[in-house]
Amino acid sequence: MMTERQLMERAHQLEREYAIEIESIREVQHRNFMRILDAFHAARLATSDLRPMSGYGIGDSLRDKTERVFATLYGAQAALVRPQIISGTHALAIALFGVLRPRDLLCCVTGAPYDTMEEIIGIRPSDGSLAEFGVGYAQCDITTSPSELWEGQLEQCFSAQHPKLVLIQRSRGYKRVRALREGEIARMILSVKRVSPESLVLVDNCYGDLLEDREPTMDGADLLASSFMKNIGAGVVPTGGYVVGTSRAVALAATRYSSPGVGAEIGPNLGFAEAFLRGLLFAPTVLEQVLTGNLLASALLQENGFSVDPGPHELRGDIVLRIECGSRERFIAFARAVQECSALDADVVPEPSRMQGYETEVLMAGGTLVQGSTVELSFDGPFREPYVGYLQGGLNTWQVVQATARGIVYTMKVLK
Ligand SMILES: *Cc1c(COP(=O)(O)O)cnc(C)c1O
Repeated sequence: MMTERQLMERAHQLEREYAIEIESIREVQHRNFMRILDAFHAARLATSDLRPMSGYGIGDSLRDKTERVFATLYGAQAALVRPQIISGTHALAIALFGVLRPRDLLCCVTGAPYDTMEEIIGIRPSDGSLAEFGVGYAQCDITTSPSELWEGQLEQCFSAQHPKLVLIQRSRGYKRVRALREGEIARMILSVKRVSPESLVLVDNCYGDLLEDREPTMDGADLLASSFMKNIGAGVVPTGGYVVGTSRAVALAATRYSSPGVGAEIGPNLGFAEAFLRGLLFAPTVLEQVLTGNLLASALLQENGFSVDPGPHELRGDIVLRIECGSRERFIAFARAVQECSALDADVVPEPSRMQGYETEVLMAGGTLVQGSTVELSFDGPFREPYVGYLQGGLNTWQVVQATARGIVYTMKVLK
């Protein structure tokens, strides 16, 4: 059995063996940084703009310029980028409740959506869900078949009623095996619009921001939602979320972010707009670290007998590595290793527990400066068969590698 130190040394060798893949991660993030800088310049940001605002935030020019930066970066008409949007779930809820009306149909075409969406939609009964307001829900999973068949599948799925809104989830969540690449999302949007031209498309971009140098809004998505606790927060943004898209769709979302009538007009930046901009500037650097760490972890785990997804050679559609732990004991052992390699709470022992918004118990490891941030190193998963954990984030590649090496050592000590 290899020691943690030997595994770390092996990871340094792997870094050379995967030089081509690592270089391509670097190149994408280089291009992303240049796109971000261009978006800053297009918004004509100046030192004198950096003013926090309080109260209602009417005429908050820094907030407005920050939203211009995001709209430009995402190739969208408009953006709502606010500290008052608390999380990815909140951003998605705003988008859904903003667009949908009684008797409308929402259709998720990428299989079961992320766990916290179940209560928004009403798949699991919940106070205030879309179901309570008379919004219907349908679901299909076109990701499991070749793209030539997508339109046929969609026609079947939409046969009873055309959906007002189609939801596409980019990341794997806790259910799907694979994240989508931007090229696939683009083809998916094209298929949806061919079969049902009136439908709007909302992409859940959580874990997918800036992974490639295109975003779904550049390929026809009407709305995109995500949070600063993930990729674009870069570990330096304390809170917030965004919705970007067409002017009309963002304005509709804004009626649920604040209230009908005032919409996006109110909501002071409170000093957070500066953090959002800083997060953007750091994001490509941090994502390079995250993705390189994720690749090396994948390679190291694979050669030590773990089933992982994506494999080290595969292109990535999110920042998540799926690891089959094999048993509850091994799952807990891996989580303990990640916890010990976290910046905070390194001596805490992770235990499975109930969490708001999730149906099954969840096992979570991570001691992050921004609470719950998953662009910082973290490991989690529903505590159920087949005991699959998801490793994501890591502000430094070698933190990810160390956690992985220790995870391998700890799980090896546990009988399968
Ligand atoms: C994290 C995540 C969410 C929810 O975001 P929170 O900030 O945790 O509320 C939604 N969808 C996907 C795919 C996610 O990864």
